[in-house]
Amino acid sequence: MERTLSIIKPDGVKKNVIGEVIKRFEANGLRIAAIKKIHMTKAQAEGFYAVHRARPFFGSLTEFMSEGPVVTIVLEGNNAIAKNRELMGATNPKDAAAGTIRKDFAADIERNVVHGSDGPETAAFEISYFFNALEIF
Ligand code: ATP
Ligand code: MG
Repeated sequence: MERTLSIIKPDGVKKNVIGEVIKRFEANGLRIAAIKKIHMTKAQAEGFYAVHRARPFFGSLTEFMSEGPVVTIVLEGNNAIAKNRELMGATNPKDAAAGTIRKDFAADIERNVVHGSDGPETAAFEISYFFNALEIF
């Protein structure tokens, strides 16, 4: 069993596809261990994406991630990290495989509907950024 952090980003929330995204997780063997809707400040988004602070898109990305509410989810299942990223599809929806979340719902490389942890260490950091142990079941 493995845990990973998913975020339905502000564009996904505005498009009203929270249920559609969660349905795909559950249909593919991922269980919701924790979930909440929050609206990050710019500073909170900067803390979350600190690993990207030197990237040219950092300012725009953190502006986007704090423009409205997101849904943060702890997913649990076998190979949850890789499984989630497979369901998400490539970062740029133009490159995403057919049937992936980003292919079906994302507008562009930045407004790409979902976030998923990319490894065990980032998953542990990202889960603890939003949830404490008493909120995960
Ligand atoms: P995420 O970390 O959100 O799950 P990812 O791992 O596929 O996505 P990263 O390379 O970690 O992609 O980039 C983090 C996020 O930054 C992307 O999901 C996207 O929203 C944004 N991003 C990445 N590359 C670009 C870019 N070239 N221009 C604008 N935004 C970008
Ligand atoms: Mg990433």
